[in-house]
Amino acid sequence: MVKVNSNYFKLKTNYLFPEINNRVNHFIEINNNINIIRLGIGDVTEPLPKACCLAMKAAVDEMGTDHGFHGYGPEQGYDWLRKAIAYHDFQIRGCDISSEEIFISDGSKCDTSNILNILSNDNRIAVTDPVYPVYVDSNVMAGNTGNNFEKTHYRGLIYIILNAENNFVASIPKERVDIVYLCFPNNPTGAVATRFQLKEWVNYALDNDSLILFDAAYQSFIQDPNLPHSIFEIEGARNCAIEFRSFSKNAGFTGTRCAFSVVPKSLNGNTICGNKVNLWELWKRRQSTKFNGVNYVVQRGAEAVYSHEGQVQIQALTKFYMENAAIIYNKLQDIGLQVYGGKHAPYVWIKTPEGKDSWEFFDYLLKKAHIVSTPGSGFGKAGEGYIRLSAFNSRSNIEVAMDRITALDFDI
Ligand SMILES: *Cc1c(COP(=O)(O)O)cnc(C)c1O
Repeated sequence: MVKVNSNYFKLKTNYLFPEINNRVNHFIEINNNINIIRLGIGDVTEPLPKACCLAMKAAVDEMGTDHGFHGYGPEQGYDWLRKAIAYHDFQIRGCDISSEEIFISDGSKCDTSNILNILSNDNRIAVTDPVYPVYVDSNVMAGNTGNNFEKTHYRGLIYIILNAENNFVASIPKERVDIVYLCFPNNPTGAVATRFQLKEWVNYALDNDSLILFDAAYQSFIQDPNLPHSIFEIEGARNCAIEFRSFSKNAGFTGTRCAFSVVPKSLNGNTICGNKVNLWELWKRRQSTKFNGVNYVVQRGAEAVYSHEGQVQIQALTKFYMENAAIIYNKLQDIGLQVYGGKHAPYVWIKTPEGKDSWEFFDYLLKKAHIVSTPGSGFGKAGEGYIRLSAFNSRSNIEVAMDRITALDFDI
């Protein structure tokens, strides 16, 4: 009989979002016609920017002509898109990143897990708690962890605890790690790192020969011009970091699928025998073998993000979601709840009142206000006692949801 990858059995049985769906569906079943407002899952709600739609329509028409047809494209993405990204997202922000260091993909979720393909199984890996579950689960599947102990932390991973004391920004660990996953602005806590904090991480990585896997999927939500959007704004990061970016959140591409990773050519790793190898070469090899590129039409859509119209439209999208975040943040703060995030990220992270645990407060909001939240404990043990609300929704849903919560009579 065929043997399966038994690492999959180490995974926690109940993945967060299926469990939320079960509870919501059960509630809808017993309460006919109830108007549920979903502020749980982190998916965008507004339509695609016009500039992207027009570019994709034109690209479809082109594909239907003799001279405009495109077959397989370059595995790393078309040059025109890689150049637009390198220029607009990095070079004009002072980052020394070339178009050859941009690898177009169909998602950051894939990139953040596929990167493990080029890394050895015996690295010391650090993640935060709470954490975007993909980083942890992809390491479990790859066999980089032991069993799931206490149903919360895996042996073999180093957890950096995020809490109100450290403002949900990961502090530098005392021990040496080979790899650390950082996500700023953060999902789920909405925290953002200052230039100084990122500098500390880059220095730590350079001192310890560590690799930073930097997830910047939410960089477009940063409001303060002094905050860094990219790890490559920090000197030295070219020698210790890979960055993951996506069009999912800034341009509403969650269903369209386009993202990219930035792998500097100056980044090296070691073989088991201690020989230096270039990570850019390995990633290029990995992508060329296992990936055949993002479709031409979608890459044209992504390119349009960088046109003048595209920039205006995505800024309007971000502004819309950030106004939603401000409404959530302010209304909940006004009734005395402890709220975090929401200033540079589309997520508000809320301390549960009345000593309720995350799932109790989730159930309470579902039953009393018909609102779906995300229990913080689903992102890790340290998320217990918090819930996450997402600003991805229509203005009227956000307003109705806040009216419902503020009308509740819980003791803070
Ligand atoms: C939404 C999100 C992404 C983007 O993933 P895609 O696969 O590009 O849609 C990446 N990282 C985090 C933490 C996210 O929340």
